[in-house]
Amino acid sequence: MSTTPEPGTLAPATIAVAAGRPARAQGGHVNPSVPMNSTYVSRGVVTPDELSYARGDNDAWHPFEEALAALEDGGAGTARRADGDASGPDAAATAILFSSGMAAIAAIFSLVPDGGTLVLPRHAYQAGMVLARQISERHGVTLRYVDIADTDAVVAALDGADLLLVESPTNPMLEVADLPAVLGAARAAGVRSVVDNTFATPLGQRPLVHGADVVLHSVTKYLAGHSDVVLGALVTRDAALAATLRDHRTLHGAIAGPFEAWLALRGLRTLALRFERAQATAAELARRLADHPEVAEVRHPSLPGDPGHERAKAQMTGFGAIIGVRPRPRPGGADDAAARADAVVDAVRLWLPATSLGGVESMLERRRRWGTEATTVPEDLLRLSVGIEDVEDLWADLDRALRA
Ligand SMILES: *Cc1c(COP(=O)(O)O)cnc(C)c1O
Repeated sequence: MSTTPEPGTLAPATIAVAAGRPARAQGGHVNPSVPMNSTYVSRGVVTPDELSYARGDNDAWHPFEEALAALEDGGAGTARRADGDASGPDAAATAILFSSGMAAIAAIFSLVPDGGTLVLPRHAYQAGMVLARQISERHGVTLRYVDIADTDAVVAALDGADLLLVESPTNPMLEVADLPAVLGAARAAGVRSVVDNTFATPLGQRPLVHGADVVLHSVTKYLAGHSDVVLGALVTRDAALAATLRDHRTLHGAIAGPFEAWLALRGLRTLALRFERAQATAAELARRLADHPEVAEVRHPSLPGDPGHERAKAQMTGFGAIIGVRPRPRPGGADDAAARADAVVDAVRLWLPATSLGGVESMLERRRRWGTEATTVPEDLLRLSVGIEDVEDLWADLDRALRA
């Protein structure tokens, strides 16, 4: 049994540290243990709250699930509980841990009926898009791609749809959706909405507060934060929907291991420090990159001229720590755009050439090296995931690589 302070009374940075601790007892543990069990002592008819078999429910997941639910809830659940409204879609949030972000996406896509309609961003996490195409072919699901920053286009696409998937900012183009507008429109149209909050984290934005039915995370990224685990999660206030999603996890078996769940909570403890530093460094690097002679284009919502700047300012705390950069082609150079960008990746010494993001270590990659990336993503777009190293060391390495 773990304890989580009432989220309504605490700031997110505090919740990340204080939530999901063991109950306070003299000589008791300050951290949850790593319980290693495939089954639990059990006889007779089992109630839903009892532990019986570790694929269905597992106490190794609970501390992280409690902490993430409290972070995404942002105190609203507490206020409603005080009003005596403790069930239904307005209840406090619950989190469901999965073996990966993709397992969480698969559980979400399972909500779309055969022959149904899924509205999704034209730019979004590419493995999710590959899975959507597969489901479309096998189950006759219609896919409606939208520019998630174009609110009118999103609202128009909701007509007769079953599910709206939102990413904001998008991976890797950093487009920013008007969350209150598109989530409100989905609710009004009776379309279930899911927001992939991997890039912003619950410290950057809380989609449940803006009206999302479900929040999705690749826990692999900022929440765990150290590039050492692969995990995913869903968070919702809808108790019936939570039960459906848990059933999916139990029946498809995409469950987290106890030690991975423990590592995710260990990483979550420092989320506020890591994310604040990474965001601040990203904004500074974006500002310098915008003036760099070897850079053709920079995308980061912190830049006053960025198309997503005003929206991000209105609905986010900070601007995130992912930057999009296109190197300037060399005048008279024989290199094509992709080769020019690849040369930057080859030239860095401190930045890590790798896919993934959200770790303490800064990483970069050319996104179109993946054959599955959307073809509207420029061939020479580099996605930079800014970590927590010293800003001057990161800048020196990037500046040298761009000029190499
Ligand atoms: C990485 C990522 C995912 C997939 O998560 P995994 O943990 O790799 O399965 C989903 N959405 C976004 C935005 C991601 O960056």
